[in-house]
Amino acid sequence: MATPLSAGRFLAILKAEGVKTAEYPGWTTRGRDAATGRQFGPVHMILNHHTAGTNSLAVVAKNGVAGLPGPLAHIHLAKSGLATMCSAGRANHAGPMAKNAYDSFLNERSTHPAPSKSSGTVDGNDVSYGIETENLGNGKDVYPRAQYDAWVRIDAAICREYGWSAESCGCHKETSIEGKIDPKGPVEGYGARGRFEFTPKQFRADVAERLKHPASWSPGSSTPDPTPPKETAVPLTDADLKLLATRDGYFPAPRDAADYSTDKKAAGHYWSLGTHLRAQSEGIRAARRELAALSAAVTALAGQVGKGADTATVVAAVQKAIADAVIKVDVDINSKES
Ligand SMILES: [Zn+2]
Repeated sequence: MATPLSAGRFLAILKAEGVKTAEYPGWTTRGRDAATGRQFGPVHMILNHHTAGTNSLAVVAKNGVAGLPGPLAHIHLAKSGLATMCSAGRANHAGPMAKNAYDSFLNERSTHPAPSKSSGTVDGNDVSYGIETENLGNGKDVYPRAQYDAWVRIDAAICREYGWSAESCGCHKETSIEGKIDPKGPVEGYGARGRFEFTPKQFRADVAERLKHPASWSPGSSTPDPTPPKETAVPLTDADLKLLATRDGYFPAPRDAADYSTDKKAAGHYWSLGTHLRAQSEGIRAARRELAALSAAVTALAGQVGKGADTATVVAAVQKAIADAVIKVDVDINSKES
């Protein structure tokens, strides 16, 4: 059951795959579900497009075009490779899909037949994620390297999340019964490959290769993934630990210590780690005693308010409360530490 991704999860898988993301305001709740009375999902494939325009983010994310309200895709992919989230719901991107073509993606077949209207149609907006990649689609406008790389990552991230193969990645021209031609055009390069023409087959091959690697992988790097140097665990001996705790000469003593000396050769300049720890522990105990005393004094004072007692009585009551509190703190500390 391929339930649509939540907005948070959608973002997370893209980031994990190394995609630079942005969020179009309101994208998490914008979709064509309520207005059409149709539900998005279960989803079974990704459909890739070119925008056939420039600066089309607002059109894709929100405004739509005449007769086709936005959002027009789930993701708008800029030339820079920046993926802007446009919807986590139903989006108007696919239109009717030829059933024979859709079935080949649904079943992840290795070949995808040309879309045939006579095979019937499926509402593609119910069942597919749409990626709108910024390109004029005139066959001359180039998909920059960074854009194509992000495109492969986006499709791979979704496939990886659902456990789909790259055969779940389709292109609009492979499913449309309306003669769509997208995506189309030259790609600047990918990995170690130079300029080439976009084809759905090559795109799926690139997604498939990516899926063989972890999400953090980058294509075409000649250097292998760095393997961390092997660490050999060397256990500390009791003698090492004792040295660490007791040896002077590494940790400067506090300047307000009674025997502090500015002379680096004098005993009072350095403390051992053990001395430092003991001093810290004693300081914390003293602070707790003072806090308890303060709290007891306030309580005792409050208890004397309005009783008309003379000053000596009030002082005696407060002093007794402080003494009891300090003793109690010592007992608490000892019972916890012993
Ligand atoms: Zn399209």
